[in-house]
Order: sequence, then structure tokens, then C-alpha cells
Amino acid sequence: MAAFPQTAAPAAAPPAAPIPQPLDGKRGGTDPGPRNLARDLQGPDLLAAPITDHGTVPNLRFSFSDSHNRLEPGGWAREVTELALPIATELAGVNMRLNAGEHETGVRELHWHKQAEWAYMTVGRARITALDEQGRNFIDDVGVGDLWYFPPGIPHSIQALAEGCEFLLVFDDGSFSENNTFLLTDWLSHVPRSVIAKNFGVTEESLKDLPTKEWWIFPAPVPGPLEEDRIPDPQGVSPTQYSYHLLAQEPQHLSGGTVRIVDARNFPVSKTVAAALVEVEPGAIRELHWHSNTDEWQYYLAGQGRMGVFASGGKARTFDFQAGDVGAVPFAMGHYIENTGTTTLRFLELFKSERYTDFSLNQWLALTPPTLVKAHLQVGDEFIAHLQKVKPVVVMPPAPAA
Ligand code: MN
Ligand code: MN
Repeated sequence: MAAFPQTAAPAAAPPAAPIPQPLDGKRGGTDPGPRNLARDLQGPDLLAAPITDHGTVPNLRFSFSDSHNRLEPGGWAREVTELALPIATELAGVNMRLNAGEHETGVRELHWHKQAEWAYMTVGRARITALDEQGRNFIDDVGVGDLWYFPPGIPHSIQALAEGCEFLLVFDDGSFSENNTFLLTDWLSHVPRSVIAKNFGVTEESLKDLPTKEWWIFPAPVPGPLEEDRIPDPQGVSPTQYSYHLLAQEPQHLSGGTVRIVDARNFPVSKTVAAALVEVEPGAIRELHWHSNTDEWQYYLAGQGRMGVFASGGKARTFDFQAGDVGAVPFAMGHYIENTGTTTLRFLELFKSERYTDFSLNQWLALTPPTLVKAHLQVGDEFIAHLQKVKPVVVMPPAPAA
């Protein structure tokens, strides 16, 4: 039998990472293979779960890196919907790139859809346009850390400025697909030319170069200065603010990191998506907590961490995350997120809701009669004293003035 060809070792091989084994003390054993070592290295808590994990808990993690990526002349996009992550029925996400260019940049063409769209810019800048229900236009430029929200049916577009951009889109329906939106080019490809000519009062000859299929993402001339792109509208400019500068919000500083909360209380148009941008410093933890309104959908922006989820009935499971991953926590399940890396862990918590809610286990116990807490947990005065000097609780956005 022929031996497999041997390849020479690289002259200066980097030090190999220790090979993890599904082994924890006397539990488990080595894995002689076959195995996907790269995946095992990314998911140490799946390979060798903490002994506190128990029972059958659905999958709560999916990476955009495991999604189909649709490549187009002006950029690309990939999605994580309930097809990939079946537990996440309330929200779906899209990660989109619109290319940079000196003369042309990528544009996500004029379109609308049945779902509301919430977005967070991760790289670069873009120009967004929309029309409100009173026929008034909206146009703005957004950069890193800015959001936008378009209610269902509102027509809109996104185009990269010269430096290009990348962003996360979140839709308030887990079954949403970016491949099933209502596109300008797709529609007009399916209307007789005579009807289009009649509709716009032009000749059919003037329509001879109309696209004959959807374009979706394509290159278009770089937008000029924002002021020059503002179309005088006889109805007036829309009073609705569809964009929000999240990084301009002063963060709340907590003992191990920061949080910024945005929901319909401080970003009124965002009636179906509430969010928190959370930073957890190395060694710190997003404390044990739960949410009282609905499922949580997460997007990891930077760093690495692990999340332990308590599903009641003795069930618990732990997942590992890094930038580009999506996490999910079903309604009411208790959870924590621990920074397991050496840099700041940054992620978005998203909810299909008009408000952000958060129940801190620490806060609950701090405000419960100490005798009762001691009786449950069999702890002493030191534990109680620590609860009493807890860090400040997260402050919710004030209700908008009536
Ligand atoms: Mn859209
Ligand atoms: Mn949470």
C-alpha cells in the first residue's frame, strides 16, 4: 500500500496549540479521531462541558462563517435565520458588505419587506434613504456604531460611501430571508414594458436598458455630499428619525464593563427591536440574569466568551463564542456570559420588543430578606454583606415625554 506523501515541516512552525481532549479529571477520555480539531479548539465547552451542564438543551449558537455567502458585483451578504438556528424564531440576522470604491461603491438596491429592519454598522460608512407613510423622504449618513430602523413596508436603500461598509441587519421574524425582499429591479422585470411606460408617462424606447432580472447588490456612482442628495420634497422632510448614534450615547459603567441600551424609549421608531451593546472586560462576567419579555438574539462583535444557559428542569448547557457568531437564549432562561479571552468582549443583545428588560440575580437576592436567602443557599453573613454593596443596577432609558 502506498504511503501518504510526506510533506516537509515548515522551517519555523508556530508553536502548536495544545490539543484539547474531551477529558475532565476522571470523566471522558481522549479522542483518537477522526476529529475536526479547528472546531474543537473553538468550542472547548462543547468538547468537554462543565460538570454543571446536564440534559438536552437545543443548539444556541451558529456562526455567520457557516452560512451560505451570496457574492455579487458590489459586495456580499449571508444570513442566520431559523433555518440555521431553529430555536431563534423571533429574530433573523444578515451580515452584509458593500464594497468601497473611488468611482463606484456597492449599493443594496431600493427595496422593502414585510418585516421591520434594525441595523448596526460595524465597519465604514453608508448613506441610507427611506420614504415614510406620509410620502416624506428621509436620508442620512451612518458610520460605525450607528443604527437604523425601518418599519415593515417602508421602502429604503443602503449605499456604501467611498470607504465601503459592513453591517449587521436584524429582522423581527426568524423566518425572514434577505433573498425574498421586494426589489425595484425584480418588480420591473416582471411588469410589461407597455405598463411601465404608461405608469411613468415615458416611451417604451426610453426603457430599453431596464434590468431584466433582480440586481440586489450592485456597484453605483459614489454618493456626493449629503446636502446635495437631499431631494426637496413638497410634503416636507420626514419628522421620523430612522437612525440613531448608539456610540454617541454615554455608556453606563459597571464593575466589569459597560452597557448602552437602545429601545423605543430613546429611539422611538424602533417599536419591535430593543438592544443593548455590552462590553465585558477580560476576566469579567456579564452577570447571572434573565429577561422578562422575550427571547434574546446575540451578535458577537469582538473578543471571545462563553455563555452558560439554565433551561429549568435540571437542564443547562454551555457554548463558546467569538466575533462573527450568533447566540440565542430562549425566553426567561437564566444565563451568564464570561469573557474567556485577553481583550474586551463586545456583543449585542437583541430582543423583539419595544423595551429592554433585565433581571439581575444579584439584585434580586440583595433585595430579599437575608434570612430567606441564607436559608436557601446555606451561606453566611459575608455572602449577604457582599450582596448589599452590589454595583449600581443598569438604568433603563427614560420614558419619552408624553
Ligand atoms: Mn431592507
Ligand atoms: Mn441576556
